Amino acid sequence: MWAEGIGGWPARRARISPQRTALLFESEPTTYAQLARRIAKLASRLTAAGVGQGDRVAYLGPNHPAFVETLFATTSLGAIFVPLNFRLTAPEIEHILTDSGATVLIYAPQTAKVVEGLQGPTARLVALEDYETWLGEGAETAPEVAVSPDDVALILYTSGTTGRPKGATLTHANLLWNTFNLLIGVDVGGDEVTLVTAPLFHIAALAQTLLPTVIKGGCALLTASWDVDGCFDLIERHRVTWMFGVTTMYAALAASPRWPSADLSSVRSLICGGAAVPEELVRTYQRRGLVFCQGYGLTETAPGVTFLEARESDGRAGSAGVPVFFADARLDPPGSGPGEILVKGPNVTPGYWRNPHATAAAFTEDGWFRTGDVATVDEDGHFRIVDRLKDMFISGGENVYPAEVENILYEHPAVAETAVIGVPDGKWGEVGCAFVVRSGDVGGEELREFLLGRLAKYKVPVRFEFVEGLPRTASGKVRKAELRAGS
Ligand code: AMP
Repeated sequence: MWAEGIGGWPARRARISPQRTALLFESEPTTYAQLARRIAKLASRLTAAGVGQGDRVAYLGPNHPAFVETLFATTSLGAIFVPLNFRLTAPEIEHILTDSGATVLIYAPQTAKVVEGLQGPTARLVALEDYETWLGEGAETAPEVAVSPDDVALILYTSGTTGRPKGATLTHANLLWNTFNLLIGVDVGGDEVTLVTAPLFHIAALAQTLLPTVIKGGCALLTASWDVDGCFDLIERHRVTWMFGVTTMYAALAASPRWPSADLSSVRSLICGGAAVPEELVRTYQRRGLVFCQGYGLTETAPGVTFLEARESDGRAGSAGVPVFFADARLDPPGSGPGEILVKGPNVTPGYWRNPHATAAAFTEDGWFRTGDVATVDEDGHFRIVDRLKDMFISGGENVYPAEVENILYEHPAVAETAVIGVPDGKWGEVGCAFVVRSGDVGGEELREFLLGRLAKYKVPVRFEFVEGLPRTASGKVRKAELRAGS
């Protein structure tokens, strides 16, 4: 198989179309030839900093060309890229740096305060302000490293029902097969202008927009932040042809006063996923003649599991489509459901980073990955995501694992018992609500402040309900369904 993994893709693209624009960021273009050269220099610089095969390099910051360069340079060395959610607090980042054992952390100015607050074992820090000088010290040619397709390329930290974030590993092969699946499902051309506005630390932006764009030689238009007006401006100014977004983003665009008059004539397809996609939202986009596809997937599956191809979408609003070309999905128990979605395929993670226990729990005995999501399947094999088994909710596209929030709440001396659930919210899809049994004098504001110092804001409940006791099963498990029904 190919010798340098995903890290070599920009250089291979540069052989075919060196002068095409690869990246566009704040109106600054980078061609494929320039990108390949910068990646080689960075790889050489990382080597000088002691990064070798299997080592971990972390990146903390919003979308930026340096993110893309670090991704490819690191993986071209057979080292492992660890992108971090820039909304995390210092204790959350410390955990990831320690768990992954990252030896280098490249960080953006927006995150400098958090990085200053890091304690304990830390990686070598490279501020984005010093990045150009740092990269400039690299040699023109990078060392040639033989990378096996089954080598780990990425570790992406997701939480879980047991609390602390764990690292889902993805191999070079996982990412290649997902790229095939995506390119089979969406007509991506070399003339694409892809709006990469969802954060690249999340697998969907990285694998469903950036990688397929690079392989086809399109232009990835990167934005550091997202807002409705900025999004319309970029689509109109740069004639964007496709993008990926989460449900809240598309809902906000459609609710904007600019929606009726915005010029969307350049757009060929829009991909929506990451959270439940309401049928009405799909219809709103279809009524404008737009191709609006739903994808369903997870970090652990790199990420595509099911996809509704554009030409098959008529009359199927709300369906998450059929399994992607090179993967299989079925329900447990078998049948038309509802049942838990199980996945098998070359896109599925080999497991969690140094966590054999979590890895074993994620697979059935015969090797199917357990998604924790519940679907029904119609007679044509189309999946509809209807529920979730895992204790998780999604707020503005970000996953929140109540166990992680509850563990921190228990550290507060006035919290005797607590349970966190997601409740519906018009803007964010869901927001957190914490039920708390007090053992001392404390109010919602104080608990919020307590959590904000320890957890990213999107994980912190907006509502606190103080109760006398929590409904429990005979075995002592909190009956969250009952809490949900009553809230
Ligand atoms: P992540 O690992 O952050 O990509 O989150 C994966 C989870 O997001 C899945 O397990 C689902 O619960 C949810 N999800 C992703 N896509 C969809 C979709 N199209 N419909 C409903 N839920 C989704």
